[in-house]
Amino acid sequence: MLSLETLKTLASKVGIDDVGVAVARRLDDEATFMDQWINHGLHGNMSYLERNRNLRYDPGQLVPNAQTVIVCLLTYEHSGHDYHRALKSKLYELEALLIEQGYCTASDTQNKFCDSAPFLERRWAVEAGLGWIGRNHQLIHPTLGSYVHIGELVITEPVEAPSGKSAQSLCGTCTRCIEACPGQALGQNEWDARKCKAYITHKCTICQQVCPFNEHIKSI
Ligand code: SF4
Ligand code: SF4
Repeated sequence: MLSLETLKTLASKVGIDDVGVAVARRLDDEATFMDQWINHGLHGNMSYLERNRNLRYDPGQLVPNAQTVIVCLLTYEHSGHDYHRALKSKLYELEALLIEQGYCTASDTQNKFCDSAPFLERRWAVEAGLGWIGRNHQLIHPTLGSYVHIGELVITEPVEAPSGKSAQSLCGTCTRCIEACPGQALGQNEWDARKCKAYITHKCTICQQVCPFNEHIKSI
C-alpha cells in the first residue's frame, strides 16, 4: 500500500511542491457551512456555487468508488502563466508513476482536477494536512504561504495512514488581512464575496500581500 513518504518522494520527482492525502468522504461539515453561506447570499454573483452541490461536497459522486484524495500544491513560482496546464500535466505524471509502481489503476473517469470541476479544493488541502484556511480565506501552507495552486488526483485505492487530521490554524491573533482589506470583505471567520474586489475586478491580492506567511515571497 502506498505510504505518504513514498508519495512525497514520487510527487517531488515530478516537480510538485507538496502533497498530502485524505480519505475520500462526503464533507458534511463543509456542506452545512457552505449551504448556510450561500443561503445568506454571501456568495454574491457566483451562482455556479448554487449548482452541483452534491458533486461539490462528495468526491465519490465524481469518481465512483473513490477512496483517496491526493492533494498536490504547486507554487505560483513553479507554475508559470498557464497553471492549469502545468499542474494538470504534473497530476498525469504522478498518476503514471503510481500506476507503474502498482499503487493505483488507471481510471476510466476523470479523476484529476485543478479548478476544473466542482471540487472544494481548499477544504481538501486542509483535510490532507497541507495547511489551513486563513482569515484571508486562502489556503495557507506553513512554509509555502498562500501563493499556491491546488490540484487533486482521486484514486480508488487506500493509502497507508492518511493524516486524517487537518492542520491547525497558525493565524493566531494576527488580523493584518482584515485591517488591510479595502472592501471590508473579511471578518474573524467570514468572507463576503459581494464586497471582495478580487471577485469584482479580479485585481486585488492585498490580503495575501500583507500575510506574514507570504513574507518570503519577493513579488508576484
Ligand atoms: S482580495 Fe482584496 S477585497 Fe478581497 S478579501 Fe482580499 S483584500 Fe479584501
Ligand atoms: S494576514 Fe494574518 S490573519 Fe490574515 S491570513 Fe495571514 S496570518 Fe492569518
